[in-house]
Amino acid sequence: MTHQTSATPRTIAFIGAGNMASAIFGGMIEAGYPADRIIATARSRDTLEALEQRYGVTTTQDNADAVARADVIVLGVKPQMMHDVCQALAPAVQERKPLVISVAAGITCDSLERWLGGELAIIRCMPNTPSLVGVGASGLYATSRVTDEQRALMDEMLTAVGIVEWVEEEGLLEAVTGISGSGPAYFFLFIEALEAAGIELGLDAETARRLAIQTGRGAAQMAFTSEHEPAELRRRVCSPNGTTERAINSFEGDGLREMVSRAAKASSARAAELA
Ligand code: NAD
Repeated sequence: MTHQTSATPRTIAFIGAGNMASAIFGGMIEAGYPADRIIATARSRDTLEALEQRYGVTTTQDNADAVARADVIVLGVKPQMMHDVCQALAPAVQERKPLVISVAAGITCDSLERWLGGELAIIRCMPNTPSLVGVGASGLYATSRVTDEQRALMDEMLTAVGIVEWVEEEGLLEAVTGISGSGPAYFFLFIEALEAAGIELGLDAETARRLAIQTGRGAAQMAFTSEHEPAELRRRVCSPNGTTERAINSFEGDGLREMVSRAAKASSARAAELA
């Protein structure tokens, strides 16, 4: 990771350093961000000691103290905790006016600004779990007070754990939720189903699982690296009247595309309900 965005790396406080937050700062540190510029908070001393040992970050159980020292705060607590955590932090945040980043599903920028006591630069982020293995896909939305330099810093932070896509309307984060936020589970389900089909066809469970997982991985890798679009890659595997064409025709006949569309819309609608 390079640090052209600022001469001195920003001090970033992760409030609620659980799975998602530690995946992000772990990726940043691996990419070269200085660990001594990262402060992590959590409720348990044991969690914090483990983070100190693993990543060399500074830790504290005192959220307000972390905010007082930070240029950027990342709110990583569960959505149901967010209101109380923000209200307790409001005085420190208003004093310091850091860039505020939230990874909490369904909490709007308006709510965050209200709970944190007034006008702020806020970025909302919808990450996904493959960020834990450095192959995440995050959707981001910035309020009008966020500067270009702050956007660049956010890009730098999140590209350490995957790809980043900005949306220009906050409501589009619900679409992001339906595609990439919930999406890993769709692919897990497909792998499960393919494994089950392998067993029905006579393979032993382990073999079926390994073949299904590696096929998903290989197809994603090809789609990611190829100059061809996914539809073209699919056509190239389908020889006329061949085995794959039979299977694809079966999927199309059973309405796979409509099923995927309905599922993504259901996730997106649920995200809207939570907001
Ligand atoms: P998690 O439970 O692993 O992390 C939450 C952390 O917050 C814990 O370490 C806990 O100790 C800490 N915490 C709780 N109360 C606190 C307080 N008062 N002060 C300081 N720390 C406190 O949860 P997670 O899976 O990392 O999810 C965190 C956020 O990320 C959620 O808001 C969720 O919506 C969002 N998110 C998660 C995923 C995902 O796939 N895990 C995807 C998208 C968004």
